[in-house]
Amino acid sequence: MPKRKQSERLYERAQRVTPGGVHSPVRAFRSVGGTPVFIERAEGPYLYDTDSNRYLDFCMSWGPLILGHADPDIAAAAHAAIDKGCSYGAAEAGSLELAELITGHIPWVEKIRFVNSGTEAVMSAIRVARGVTGRTKILKFAGCYHGHSDGMLVAAGSGLADMTVADSAGVTAGTAADTLVAPLDDIPAVEQIFASHGADIAAIIIEPLPANNGLLPQRDGYLSSLAKIARANGALLIFDEVITGFRMAFGGAAEFYGVTPDLVTYGKIIGGGFPVGAFGGLADLMDHVAPIGTVYQAGTLSGNPVAMAAGNAALCKLLRDKPWEMLAKRAALLRENITSSSKDQMQSKEISLNCIAIGSLFWITFTDSATLDAVARAQWQIPPAQQILFPALFHGLLDRGYYLAPSAFEPGFLSTVHGESELSEFAKALGEILAEMDTAS
Ligand SMILES: *Cc1c(COP(=O)(O)O)cnc(C)c1O
Repeated sequence: MPKRKQSERLYERAQRVTPGGVHSPVRAFRSVGGTPVFIERAEGPYLYDTDSNRYLDFCMSWGPLILGHADPDIAAAAHAAIDKGCSYGAAEAGSLELAELITGHIPWVEKIRFVNSGTEAVMSAIRVARGVTGRTKILKFAGCYHGHSDGMLVAAGSGLADMTVADSAGVTAGTAADTLVAPLDDIPAVEQIFASHGADIAAIIIEPLPANNGLLPQRDGYLSSLAKIARANGALLIFDEVITGFRMAFGGAAEFYGVTPDLVTYGKIIGGGFPVGAFGGLADLMDHVAPIGTVYQAGTLSGNPVAMAAGNAALCKLLRDKPWEMLAKRAALLRENITSSSKDQMQSKEISLNCIAIGSLFWITFTDSATLDAVARAQWQIPPAQQILFPALFHGLLDRGYYLAPSAFEPGFLSTVHGESELSEFAKALGEILAEMDTAS
């Protein structure tokens, strides 16, 4: 068992001065138990904690680090930018270059505005949709995450599809009422909601590849059906590509699936590890944004030159190396390795373990294929086995030097520096942990 004495000490101190000891809730390990690991540095696919333990990282800062930790090109660009000042609060060319790079490669993004997080990007895109359409309601999907703005912290109520409830204290019932929630994989439910609220719905927002509540690829044709319904009803379609943008393809899930949204939000990869988000779309929509339009949106540190330099370096490298196919092959290989290394254990212990892989994302779930297929997509319920077995798997892996996101519902993220040998070692370790795992309880 590796020692994590420093992490324990730091966590004790952190809890005294910060709610739960962390600055974003899932970092606190509450759903897996134990003490959060305090990281001291990171390089390539590895994290190093304050007790000098090394972990092969599959959380990758929850998605941004598709080129690995401390990518030398991103670091050089950021260092060079810092030497020229950390922020100007004025027009500069770095954000122009990044905007040109994105609009030059993604036809449905003619104009883009940079913000500081995915949350802000979604908040702003929704404001644009309301400003353009003059309508109030937004339709989202159960299990999709769109950041922590009030209107997106809303869940489906029990009962009628149009009864929604605040998913956080501090969100008003009035705000919750403006968000409608539909189940995924259920076009009739969407049609029904439009039948009763169509004239009030400003936009449909969806993660085109839902990846925040497990990894739930939708059926072929699902996104284009949503696009059709939105267009027939004068509502906009917003793709929240904060995870999938530049990860599934340069043009994100929209390019991967061949379905074009009206507005799109980016985050995570776009800043190369720095806090950047963005929203964009066709010029006639984006021209509703201040200062030329009436939809107000602003940010003191928006288009921060250091973050823009890092984002430029990251996206240029992706365009140069085009790693998407290689990454998808590696994720598929990882899936095969995990499936074969867990096969015997699954039989002898009567557990179901599945690995879903798409693009450079993978998700290990204690759910049988039939459940995943039939139930999970439409009415996604957290499978109880996932909650019971995942913490044991997580800690088994952690003790062997593998860092998954400390959440049973977060996918794993591959980067270009996760090598095949590391992935096969990981799959082997996973098989060993399953063999030792007490699944009787
Ligand atoms: C992470 C995420 C967000 C929120 O981005 P933050 O930068 O954490 O505010 C929004 N939407 C999706 C799909 C995300 O994965």
